Amino acid sequence: MSRAREFIPGVEKALKSRGEPAYRLAQVYNALCSGLVRDWEEATSLPKSLRAALQEEAPAAVLELTRLSRATDGTRKYLFKTHDGHLIETVLIPEKARRTVCISTQVGCPMACKFCATGLLGIKRNLKAREIAEQVFVAARDVWPERISNVVVMGMGEPMLNYKECLLALRVLNDADGFGLAARHIAVSTSGLVEKIRRFADEPEQFHLAISLHTPFEEEREEIMPVASRRSVLELMDAARYYVETTRRKLFFEYTLLAGVNDQPRHVEALAELLDHPLYHLNLLRFNWTDTGYAATPKREAKEFLHYARELGLSATLRPSRGQDIDAACGQLAAKDLRPQRATIPLSR
Ligand code: SAH
Ligand code: SF4
Repeated sequence: MSRAREFIPGVEKALKSRGEPAYRLAQVYNALCSGLVRDWEEATSLPKSLRAALQEEAPAAVLELTRLSRATDGTRKYLFKTHDGHLIETVLIPEKARRTVCISTQVGCPMACKFCATGLLGIKRNLKAREIAEQVFVAARDVWPERISNVVVMGMGEPMLNYKECLLALRVLNDADGFGLAARHIAVSTSGLVEKIRRFADEPEQFHLAISLHTPFEEEREEIMPVASRRSVLELMDAARYYVETTRRKLFFEYTLLAGVNDQPRHVEALAELLDHPLYHLNLLRFNWTDTGYAATPKREAKEFLHYARELGLSATLRPSRGQDIDAACGQLAAKDLRPQRATIPLSR
């Protein structure tokens, strides 16, 4: 139960001060992570008096769901307010057999990638593990009785800068006594913190990793990802090799196609040289509009880029963008304001 102790220290304290038996902590942890309660009154496995006391001392929900928007393609975006008034966003992407939740790990992000709306915000603070995991719990309640099949840490923030809390959240999501999602169905994306990539490779769980590369060329990367490029592409590739050789797991490279910037044949050719391991996979994505001066590579050219990459022997896919009409696609999360959106639906839970 050390995981529960770390995850809900406030609740543990409240239980202790009431002299509750030790097994209560496991019950409460289970009610939150598996029962998905957002109000202790819903935790019917707990005695009534305890529910009332917890309601006062350690509320079940730490995030307030402020708005839920729905895109025409079924993508949903949740806007949450933290206890100290910050706004964060979470996205649910339904596909045929999948329900993927994209979660945030920081309020804003300090990495300042030039094409990213979150990067424009700067950083306010790291999220706690409970704030990270609760985003999944809320989405899971929302899709019930369907189940969340995948979690991707690709929302607001650089997860590797909030390593400890992020990993604790992922462990709770993976924990059989917690949310119970297989590690292989959880993926983290990083802009490329090399020490943390190595550390992540050494963790016992089989979480997946994606590295945001965006260009094979050093100077170009310095231009579009100023903070991430404090480490050279070569250092990044060293860490990537360490990851695949240690874990024997596939490693994904994220590549956002920016018109005229990183979408030329010379980029494909350099990528074919750089991504020279059978476990490397190139994930192409067209730029989603943000007010940053960049433009998306046209669809046809993106497909040509993909075909050329495959021709040169790369394992590659072009991911469709989802939820653009509610600013829910990759790089668009900025929790801008509370203005009403086109497809806002009432908050029922
Ligand atoms: N901070 C982490 C994870 C969150 S961003 C990271 O950068 O990897 C998730 C992915 O969206 C990253 O690959 C990021 O580079 C990409 N992205 C950012 N802005 C984008 C945009 N406007 N269009 C498409 N992808 C974008
Ligand atoms: Fe941060 Fe990722 Fe956006 Fe870069 S792309 S600013 S690392 S959230």
